Amino acid sequence: MKIAVVGTGYVGLVVGTCLAENGNDVICVDKDDSKVRMLRRGRMPIYEPGLEEMVQRNTAERRLSFTTLLPKAVRQSSIVFIAVGTPPGEDGSADLRHVEEVARQIARAMNGYKVIVNKSTVPVGTASRVREIVRRETTHPFSVVSNPEFLKQGAAVEDFLKPDRVVIGAEDPRAAGLMKELYAPFTRTGAPVMVMDCASAELCKYAANALLATKISFMNEVAAVCERFGANVDEVRKAVGSDRRIGTSFLFPGVGYGGSCFPKDVKAILRFSAEKDYDFEILKAVEAVNERQKVRLVEKMESHFGSLKGRTIAVWGLAFKPRTDDMREAPAITIIQRLLAAGAKVQAYDPEAEKVARGIFGTRIQLCEKSYEALKGAQALALVTEWNEFREPDFPRMRKLMREPVVFDGRNLYNPEQMRAQGFTYYSIGR
Ligand code: NAD
Repeated sequence: MKIAVVGTGYVGLVVGTCLAENGNDVICVDKDDSKVRMLRRGRMPIYEPGLEEMVQRNTAERRLSFTTLLPKAVRQSSIVFIAVGTPPGEDGSADLRHVEEVARQIARAMNGYKVIVNKSTVPVGTASRVREIVRRETTHPFSVVSNPEFLKQGAAVEDFLKPDRVVIGAEDPRAAGLMKELYAPFTRTGAPVMVMDCASAELCKYAANALLATKISFMNEVAAVCERFGANVDEVRKAVGSDRRIGTSFLFPGVGYGGSCFPKDVKAILRFSAEKDYDFEILKAVEAVNERQKVRLVEKMESHFGSLKGRTIAVWGLAFKPRTDDMREAPAITIIQRLLAAGAKVQAYDPEAEKVARGIFGTRIQLCEKSYEALKGAQALALVTEWNEFREPDFPRMRKLMREPVVFDGRNLYNPEQMRAQGFTYYSIGR
């Protein structure tokens, strides 16, 4: 099929590339000229495992191309995906400016029947809004489909190629049929394709993210209770998770959730529920717990050291999670800002997010190229993102490099007894 994907960010680039990988002709559109130029040269504007090679292969096979010219892309395609950002506005509601603008541009470029697919995470009712916008601009026939994306950054390619389910909100059987055909190669292993009305499809994405965020905040609260009673959250987590009704995933306490999705989607669902006079109370608590959790590690440092003024703190991990360079709403930002405000000096390392971090902090922190370099002369290490390379470090080497062997483990990566046996003063979450 001939496909256009508008918005070539974390989602659009993965969607476009994976659709090309399955033999479709895909043209990716972005208004950011520098991004398009980079991609045309086979260079990645973001880090996502496995993506670069796939982009290069499909570009070489001429199934994948990049442009800033939206009208051209729309005219040559039968299905047009909208995958632009929907950042939170000032009141927490999803800002639909980009989606609406793209819908208008698509409508003006249409030259026949098109299926317009909303891939961005958008509030309930957006499909109708997009339908209205397009109708005002064109006389050509079209269908609007809502097709929320569930991929996880860091495993995005794998997730898109092998989805748990595909959700298609479509009121028009012709469009639903085309979408099912498009996704058939990805669902051969039996993943369900769920066709439903657009409002339900739109809500699926928010409900899923809000529930995952709830699990995280819930376990962070359990961890806080563990600390007060001398219980071990690891033991509690394993016992709770082995109940099949609950399941083992997303039960890890830590420094709070971040990223471009959970914080914004929790805010948005609260907001659009409130617009219909519904107070989604549980999510207010989820948000509040998360905000508190982000500074828990700094509070532990403050109670250990008394004052952080003039102390050198190493930070391992800056991205909001491993296997990505994305620092949007990353807990590391809040933690580092708090450390700097308390007068500490920060030496940080992340395997992929160094460049992004430089854009955020400039010269206010020292960014190191190697993990051990960040430990030189440090009076404490704060472990913030659980990259694999931090799981089995050389502890004697760490101790030698650090001025004081104190570790604040925000991801419970290490064994408390072993750390103490190695001579570290060790703090973690809920243990
Ligand atoms: P992003 O910011 O990485 O990418 C958005 C891209 O759209 C940017 O490259 C931007 O230049 C481009 N763009 C904006 N306006 C445009 C226009 N008028 N014409 C052409 N291009 C335009 O965002 P993202 O992380 O890819 O997220 C996109 C959407 O997908 C959001 O709604 C998000 O909530 C949702 N989503 C994200 C994830 C994720 O893990 N990042 C997962 C599922 C869903």
